[in-house]
Amino acid sequence: MRCPFCRHSDSRVVDSREVDEGQVIRRRRSCSNCGRRFTTVEEAVLAVVKRSGVTEPFSRDKVVRGVARACQGRPVDEDALQQLAHRVEESIRSTGCAEIPSHEVGLAILGPLRELDEVAYLRFASVYRSFTSVEDFEKEIADLRAAIRDKESS
Ligand SMILES: [Zn+2]
Repeated sequence: MRCPFCRHSDSRVVDSREVDEGQVIRRRRSCSNCGRRFTTVEEAVLAVVKRSGVTEPFSRDKVVRGVARACQGRPVDEDALQQLAHRVEESIRSTGCAEIPSHEVGLAILGPLRELDEVAYLRFASVYRSFTSVEDFEKEIADLRAAIRDKESS
């Protein structure tokens, strides 16, 4: 990492601290040429591989935006959305893979969303699973009912 002031390539770390539950490390550096200080941020990147093959960093905000669309008009607040996105991120991190196909992100959203709001879940699932007919909805609703029954009887 070059010094932003003099472009010198060597610096020494004077302080480092973990941010965001240890997923980000900030290092305070001192340039060994000009002595000025600057900060670097190091983050382990979870990459999402899109269908086109392009990768982009996993983004909790993007999950929130995607789910928020399905939740329009539903009694789901910002906090619940943030929590859901957090759960999605946790479950993706727990797979141990640094590169996740985008459809697996969708899959990781479905479970928590079903618990959060069933209507939003159906909307999201219809887009994600590309429902093409009323039968697709009927089947999904049947599964949803079965899952609710299982939950109530357990
Ligand atoms: Zn410098």
